[in-house]
Amino acid sequence: MNKSGELLEVVSAAKSYFRTRVSMGEDSIVLSGAKRKSVASTGSQAEILARLEKKVARCKRCPLHKTRTHVVFGSGTGKTGIVFIGEAPGRDEDLQGVPFVGRAGQLLNRIIEAMKLAREDVYITNVVKCRPEGNRDPLPQEIELCSAYLADQLETLKPKVICALGRFAAQALSGLKLSMADYRKNELFYKGTRVIATYHPAACLRNPSLKRPVWEDIQKLMEVWKKACTKTENRP
Ligand code: URA
Ligand code: SF4
Repeated sequence: MNKSGELLEVVSAAKSYFRTRVSMGEDSIVLSGAKRKSVASTGSQAEILARLEKKVARCKRCPLHKTRTHVVFGSGTGKTGIVFIGEAPGRDEDLQGVPFVGRAGQLLNRIIEAMKLAREDVYITNVVKCRPEGNRDPLPQEIELCSAYLADQLETLKPKVICALGRFAAQALSGLKLSMADYRKNELFYKGTRVIATYHPAACLRNPSLKRPVWEDIQKLMEVWKKACTKTENRP
């Protein structure tokens, strides 16, 4: 085979390799040295999220797809720029396809009410979008595989402040492995956006003495949010 014949063969093999990866559910092939492809596409924020949700509904990247009833993508809007991130769907969430609708969700609703906001004013999602069987902790590999979707959601929402509910969210967002006490004590960031970490509502249900520190964290979140709102308003 001459040189150009060899080259054609290599190109055709490469094309088929990428086609296979795309058909396996990867629509952004990360080439060495290249950045992860941005989800930024045409349409409003709600339209971009709806397209992403459709894609995630078919996801089979990790074994959790085998036991799920529904993928739990997220709910709410980017209206206020406040995003709550939990760990993973539980039984009620898996059945309904909506995050935080069980007992922990009712407590989160009360927290949002106490902030004088409605559930639709904030965006709520989880680190992992499918329920781990028996509500076990998500595995590091499941978090790793699913976290690209969370990154896409946050890139679209451009939040003013993020609330990490529990240590899984705090770790995934900050990239740090700390105790819950240290997540709460330190200033955490996700790509430049402040992350306020607090105890998971399910932990508060098991241990009601955590409700007070949670309320303190929520007050801190409100302060950071208000400051971020003034900054954006004052921008030329
Ligand atoms: N716990 C979570 O972390 N997320 C939910 O959606 C429900 C319970
Ligand atoms: Fe896909 Fe995430 Fe569900 Fe795993 S948990 S199948 S990565 S959506």
